[in-house]
Amino acid sequence: MDPLDDDAIAQPRCPNDGTIMRTIPEGWECGECRHFEPVAAGPLPPEFDGPSIQGG
Ligand SMILES: [Zn+2]
Repeated sequence: MDPLDDDAIAQPRCPNDGTIMRTIPEGWECGECRHFEPVAAGPLPPEFDGPSIQGG
């Protein structure tokens, strides 16, 4: 069991070379080829700043 596996779970891998990307404020960055992956819009709900869309 590789001790780095714990990190690999949460860290995305570079699509170019499979390198585990490092976390940066804007998302993830590959240390090998500098490929940048923007942080994925996960469970965060979109922000609505207008009329209610809840049937109101
Ligand atoms: Zn890369």
